[in-house]
This record gives sequence, structure tokens and C-alpha cells, in this order.
Amino acid sequence: MNCPYCDGKRTRVIDTSRATRGVRRRRECVRCGQRFNTVERAILTTPLVVKEDGRREEYDRAKLLTGIRVACAKRPVAAEAIEGLVDRVEAELRAVGKAEVGAKTIGDMVIDELKELDRVAYIRFAIVYLGLDDLDAVRFEIDRLMSQS
Ligand SMILES: [Zn+2]
Repeated sequence: MNCPYCDGKRTRVIDTSRATRGVRRRRECVRCGQRFNTVERAILTTPLVVKEDGRREEYDRAKLLTGIRVACAKRPVAAEAIEGLVDRVEAELRAVGKAEVGAKTIGDMVIDELKELDRVAYIRFAIVYLGLDDLDAVRFEIDRLMSQS
């Protein structure tokens, strides 16, 4: 980013803050000393996530990983297997090629993968993401799984 005043090539970042869907930087030109702001946007490779209440947020790999790791706690699931699972979900999201995707769509992808990976982790994840908040629904889901095996 060249200085908009003197077209100098060297600028110094003097402050960084979050902006809507990007990072705002306050810069100072090394040559002429003028200050200006830039807003740098991340290049989106994954769609925006539409939550159930209609709010939209950036896809957050770390958040998804945390949710899956919690579900896999004390289970014989390697960290690489969890990373691999999220890699596959992301690849699928990019392949869909939409600007926005429902949070439930992502949850469903993870659940399908977890079902193959570890059934206990699957049930734990399902309780949180599908909102299986009553015991009958949880039992129904476990029975359905057991009958498949
Ligand atoms: Zn300048």
C-alpha cells in the first residue's frame, strides 16, 4: 500500500483494530509523515455462516475444532483425525461455492463425519448441535445408531 499523499512505498503501522469483516490499520508514511487508514479484508475462501437466528458470522475453524475436540474428550481419536475431519468439511464448503451456508449444514457435515469416527463423540456433538436436550431424543438417537451397527 503506497502512501496516498506522496506515493511513498514505505509505511509504518501505528495502530491496528478490528473492522467489520477485516482489519483496520492506522499507518504513517515514512517519507512524508502523513497518516491514513487502511481496511484490509481477509480473502474469503469459506462462506459466511448463517446462524439459526439469522445472524451471519465468519466461518471459524478454531471454534469448530474446539467443539469437536470437546466431543472427542477422553476418546481414542487422534488430533490429526479431528484436523482431517475439519479439512474435509472445509473442502466440501468450498466445493458448494455459496457465499453463505447455514450453521446447521455445517453441523450436519460434522455429524456425518463423527458418526464414522467415534460414536460416543458423535452423540456428545449431536446433543450440543442438534439440541437433543431431552433424554428421550438422546435415547432415540442412540437406539438408531445401535441398530445400524
Ligand atoms: Zn507519504
